[in-house]
Amino acid sequence: MPDAPTIFERIIAREIPADIVYEDDAVVAFRDIAPQAPVHLLVVPRTAAYPDVAALADADPALLAHIIAVAKRLAAEHADGDFRLIFNSGEGAGQTVFHVHAHVLAGGLTEGTLG
Ligand code: 5GP
Repeated sequence: MPDAPTIFERIIAREIPADIVYEDDAVVAFRDIAPQAPVHLLVVPRTAAYPDVAALADADPALLAHIIAVAKRLAAEHADGDFRLIFNSGEGAGQTVFHVHAHVLAGGLTEGTLG
């Protein structure tokens, strides 16, 4: 039996509401429900094929590069262009949703904010 869809698959399918700020054919970006910075966005590929950034980097580096390009664009649109990009990869690193996603933190970051 396939794994149950993650919360992010359900957001992408519009089954669960989220504040979506950007989408294209490959990714959807929305505000984190528990922001750790004045701007805290999640950039999530539409495909659920990759549980974490380690799997994504091995299989589809072009999609990883696209996630980073979207993060850069969103930091310019929602803040002053400076941003911190975090991928928690694995339970031991604090990952809780196993559908790869980038945390984009921006807008008045303080030293030591890790997302
Ligand atoms: P992780 O710990 O896996 O790197 O990050 C998961 C992130 O997803 C957390 O920052 C958490 O606040 C966010 N999150 C969890 N559930 C929801 C939700 O239902 N909606 C939104 N917008 N964010 C969520």
